[in-house]
Amino acid sequence: MIRQPIIVVMGHVDHGKTSLLDAIRKTAVVLSEPGAITQSISASHVPIDVIKKICGPAMKLIKTEFKIPGLLFVDTPGHEAFTNLRKRGGNLADMAILVVDVAQGFQPQTLESIEILREYKTPFIIAANKIDLVQGWKSKEGCFIDSIGHQRSEVQQALDEKLYEIVGEISKQGFNSERFDRVKDFTKEIAIVPVCARTGEGIPELLILLAGLSQKYLEEQLHTEEGPGKGSILEVKYEKGLGTTIDVILYDGAIHKGDVIVLATKKGILSTKIRGLIEPRLEGMVYVDEVKAASGVKIFAPGLDDALPGSEVYVAKKEEDEAKYKQQLESELKTILITTEKVGVLLKADTLGSIEAISRLLQAEGVQIRKADVGSVTRQEISEAAAIRQKDRYCGAILAFNVRVEFDTVEDANAKSVPILQSNVIYSLLERFNEWKIEEKEKERQEAIASLVFPAKIKVLSGMCFRVSKPAVFGVEILAGRIKPDYEMMNEKGMALGRIKSIQAEKQSLQEASKGQQIAIAMDEPTFGKHVNDGDVLYTNIPKKDSLVLIERYKAQLSDEELAILDKIQRIQRSLAAEARE
Ligand code: GDP
Repeated sequence: MIRQPIIVVMGHVDHGKTSLLDAIRKTAVVLSEPGAITQSISASHVPIDVIKKICGPAMKLIKTEFKIPGLLFVDTPGHEAFTNLRKRGGNLADMAILVVDVAQGFQPQTLESIEILREYKTPFIIAANKIDLVQGWKSKEGCFIDSIGHQRSEVQQALDEKLYEIVGEISKQGFNSERFDRVKDFTKEIAIVPVCARTGEGIPELLILLAGLSQKYLEEQLHTEEGPGKGSILEVKYEKGLGTTIDVILYDGAIHKGDVIVLATKKGILSTKIRGLIEPRLEGMVYVDEVKAASGVKIFAPGLDDALPGSEVYVAKKEEDEAKYKQQLESELKTILITTEKVGVLLKADTLGSIEAISRLLQAEGVQIRKADVGSVTRQEISEAAAIRQKDRYCGAILAFNVRVEFDTVEDANAKSVPILQSNVIYSLLERFNEWKIEEKEKERQEAIASLVFPAKIKVLSGMCFRVSKPAVFGVEILAGRIKPDYEMMNEKGMALGRIKSIQAEKQSLQEASKGQQIAIAMDEPTFGKHVNDGDVLYTNIPKKDSLVLIERYKAQLSDEELAILDKIQRIQRSLAAEARE
């Protein structure tokens, strides 16, 4: 038996994913007899006969004999839904529609969708949506091929320009693409179908391509057995009167009321007996005794409170099957919920699917993961991250996807300088992490700069000694450069005079003083009148390694005058060293 291919709609927010799913349902209903489309929980089934009828003129696009019973569209669009359609060794979605608004072109989540589709090796078609926004476009329901013929040539050209922008963008991602009616080989070029979700224009071609391509190239993976059902939890929902239920996309076999199912929960693997199966029909929610693949179904059973979206669900007919599936799920959980001793980031997310997808994307970027788990951020994890940060400042971060983080936890993290990077969009989470790394780099650079001794030339002011020794306190003018407490000073002959203990101006302590300022400095080591005298010129005694770093990395930040003084300081140090050698 061959089941329907499972289709998911992805793309940037507001590009028209929801509208497109509506348009597909509407097209199927309007252009065929009532009841042609059945909407089950989470998914809509469009039968092949309806597709053939709708697509009459477009049928010649793909020559194939149809064995698939139709197409099954997952009703929740977006990559969060996609990532929860998990199946051993891959994703449940057989194909995806990537929606791109022709007026807006590629946007961050478009790229993220491609990234995810590539990662999971899911074939896709591009729906170039909102063609009605092309200047001068005259909308006409039905096939795009009919509609395009009715547009003025400059309008046709305007559309093509928009499409070629998409072709250009997607080629940057390493894919070839072309308007569907110009594609020569569908295995080498991604088809772009211009559509208008508002009017339904282009939907027939979109449907026939999805059906044709999956029939032609995916038939093997669409085989389904008569046996016990296998599915994936798309959502976990509380329903009044039923308690916690799971919405499952069933991709293989059949599921019955009374069956024992095995699935993953936050507390481990659960096996439980199905109390009821629900499918929504035109007349409302209906209890059914059996559901066959591929389909969406709501299941209620005891113990589903902690069920994990993204977990697989297996029907176990025999006890040994139950044990086998438990073990299988257990070992799979181990690969997704990571716990290691590695120096890496900590990832917390709401579903198994999002953890898996984010982990894959992080690993593709070479980011090490120490821990990946379902649920909110705990205090213990903050301590763990703080400890990691001691080892590698770029790793001690917590990435929290779609989970609530309590205020206390955030405060605790702030106190320990542990960043909790949060987002409900995978793309922005990864972007935030990358931004944070850049900020950290800048901070590290600032810290490195702050620890360097900069060149300075200062003059001891006459008659301004406030204390002779321990510490000596005297007035100076900064002739060039800058000084900070802890800088070591030397005289013109290179004699080291000890460190600046503090800098003061008008009874205030300063952390830095620069060119032009007249200030008092305190130094523990020298005695005024002996080592330092009125009118002396002093320099910062820059350690050799600091001079090197200043010249190699921060030359651009030094003025010509400072560079000249740096040179002078190095000359004094060199001649002193030469003298010492003699
Ligand atoms: P989603 O966030 O991707 O699910 O996008 P929606 O389906 O919610 O659509 C976003 C907005 O675009 C809504 O205001 C829609 O009415 C509008 N929209 C969707 N499809 C079309 C279309 O084909 N043409 C025009 N002009 N607007 C559209």
